[in-house]
Amino acid sequence: MTENNDNNKEQQEVGLYEKLAGRTAELLEEGKKTLDEALKKAKDEMQKAGEFSGEQLDKIGSYVQRDVIENAGKATEAIKKTVNPQRVAAGAQSIIARILTSAADALGELAEKTEQGLQFQTGEVTSAGTLTCKECGAEMHMKKTGRIPPCPKCHKTGFRKSY
Ligand SMILES: [Zn+2]
Repeated sequence: MTENNDNNKEQQEVGLYEKLAGRTAELLEEGKKTLDEALKKAKDEMQKAGEFSGEQLDKIGSYVQRDVIENAGKATEAIKKTVNPQRVAAGAQSIIARILTSAADALGELAEKTEQGLQFQTGEVTSAGTLTCKECGAEMHMKKTGRIPPCPKCHKTGFRKSY
């Protein structure tokens, strides 16, 4: 029972992540908005729709923002790879790529400042990518958006991310 509830909650959070990231990408593609503005508008719209609480939206919104900034902090070559449509995997990774394409210039500087401080913790939701355990260096490959499990090797909860 507990496990079922937990699964439902994860599904809900993953669904919310993908909706929020998708809407943020759309708003950025319309232009005239910064990432912060687009994310705030997307959250406001979804809160008004009543399906999710402001608290849930703030939490998941912070994950989306972190993943975008984390992506923007990579070397130019890696970003090109990420936004190259032929290399983009299905799902949220391509949404993050869309956000990046629209907001990359503004994000570059921000990413340089914050990349060192980005946290990826067990229990949080993130898009596809490779998480490296800060404790033992073990790698976990996430093929799609999901909740971060503990390190399979040492069971610690802090990670770095790459794509
Ligand atoms: Zn570990």
